[in-house]
Amino acid sequence: MVKLNSILAHLAFAHLAVSIPTDYGTTTTSNKTLIGCLDAANVPLISASDADYAPAVMPFNLRLPFFPVVVVVPTTAEHVSSAVKCAGAFKTKVAARSGGHSYAAFGLGGADGSLMIDMKKFRDVIVDPNTFIATVGSGLRLGDVATRLYNDARRGLPHGTCPGVGIAGHALHGGFGYMSRMWGTTLDNIVEMEVVLANGDIVTASKSTNPDLYWALRGAGSSFGIVTNFKFTTYPAPGSGVRASWSWTLDDSASDTVEKKVKIFQALQDFSEESAPSNIVFGVFMTNGFIDVSCVYWGPRAEFDTLIAPLVASFPQDGLPTPTIADYPYIDLLVVLGGGEQLPQPENYTKHDTFFTKSIVAPTKLTTKSLTSFFTFLGERGVEPSLSWFVIADLYGGKYSNIAAQDPAGSSYAIRDSFFTFQLYSNIDGANPPVTAYPPWGFEYMNEMSRSITEPQPETKFQAYVNYVDPSLSPQEAHELYYGSNYQRLRELKGRYDPELLFWNPQAIGTS
Ligand SMILES: Cc1cc2nc3c(=O)[nH]c(=O)nc-3n(C[C@H](O)[C@H](O)[C@H](O)COP(=O)(O)OP(=O)(O)OC[C@H]3O[C@@H](n4cnc5c(N)ncnc54)[C@H](O)[C@@H]3O)c2cc1C
Repeated sequence: MVKLNSILAHLAFAHLAVSIPTDYGTTTTSNKTLIGCLDAANVPLISASDADYAPAVMPFNLRLPFFPVVVVVPTTAEHVSSAVKCAGAFKTKVAARSGGHSYAAFGLGGADGSLMIDMKKFRDVIVDPNTFIATVGSGLRLGDVATRLYNDARRGLPHGTCPGVGIAGHALHGGFGYMSRMWGTTLDNIVEMEVVLANGDIVTASKSTNPDLYWALRGAGSSFGIVTNFKFTTYPAPGSGVRASWSWTLDDSASDTVEKKVKIFQALQDFSEESAPSNIVFGVFMTNGFIDVSCVYWGPRAEFDTLIAPLVASFPQDGLPTPTIADYPYIDLLVVLGGGEQLPQPENYTKHDTFFTKSIVAPTKLTTKSLTSFFTFLGERGVEPSLSWFVIADLYGGKYSNIAAQDPAGSSYAIRDSFFTFQLYSNIDGANPPVTAYPPWGFEYMNEMSRSITEPQPETKFQAYVNYVDPSLSPQEAHELYYGSNYQRLRELKGRYDPELLFWNPQAIGTS
């Protein structure tokens, strides 16, 4: 748990008096501190000496506790604007938190001493009955959004599976889920945002209003403003979907296991490239001695059975597992995909993990050499008693994918050509392990695992997924991997919209 004294000690600098810009209102004594400035503007806040500060700054990733100088809990866009102006006046970095699920705790600023804007009070979901465009508050979590779109209008939106993930961080930096090959990423469905800029202005960003900002926010949102609400395109919720999985439990010490895993993965790659329609998404889950190919098909079971037969025939037939196949009504399937957790989430969220994650965006098939190297690494080095790990490879691409079909120049999100995106996730088991429990060697171990895929395939330009943010990367490495050639334009726009780097985290646009 957070030790309040140490927080107060290293937050002492925050209350230094600085001169107030003349355009910023009154000059009372209290207005000479950041907190005083916020108080004068009636912005609801939690300061470090408040009893509810410790739970308010608890990160999702317990490995990365950071202590904001103050937590602001606005209820209006005007509060957000006042908070941003105060932060600017007192040269304090700003970070917004939506669901707090950033792998690097960037919602807390990714370092001590930021002003954190907790958006949890922005909870509207309003579906326009004519256009079916949904206005969604930036403090909601995916489970809340899915439930309310469905209950209010029988509509859906593409997004990830974990109901606790926040809509804002997710949508501004991608947002992949089991509807994404059919409907695009969450980001692709943002038609408009209300956003507070670094100078405190409250503006609209859309294709026709502030189009540069609209481009930059969709991919690099945390560096360009605080989104208070989104307008999303929504879709009629499918009646039902099929969930299927084939699970192999294999002996990692057996001589043919690597070859078998390679063949399973290759069968899926080959099928996915040409034959996977947009209404199917595959995910491959891998850990010690185990590989599972799962999918969701948004359509009738009979159609699915016909579609999937050639893939199943191309899996190694020796030891072919009996699949688990079931169809579910739309909203029930979202519950299943979320691990059985109920979709609506409490305003004050209390789940955590202690973890380090890497990602690899593979624009092409992995070669036999790469797959062999990867599965050999898992077989030889996979058992680490003090660290759990898994790898998930999600199908983004293929001929019929609507992620790849979006205009690559239409947003700063830069991984349009992902074929499979890999997430390499390591964590410490247990409810609330101490921060120090993550072993220091774990970082290099996961890096080696990652290199076991990329190094044998030097001809391929691999990227990484900004929503699986890897805090071990330098800003320059992160910008190259997340944004590639879009980074230069992002940097120029940062200079225009936020020249002082007020919206900051260690990998923010402008830090390299
Ligand atoms: C358990 C778990 C499951 C996940 N599953 C998936 C998945 O299925 N698919 C997928 O694509 N990703 C998934 N992710 C990754 C997830 O999409 C990202 O971590 C995402 O950025 C989290 O958003 P958040 O709002 O919860 O996080 P936060 O920590 O609140 O925010 C993340 C970033 O966005 C910024 N931000 C937050 N709110 C705003 C705002 N209103 N305006 C501007 N900037 C803002 C923050 O400052 C921070 O930099 C998962 C993550 C976890 C931990």
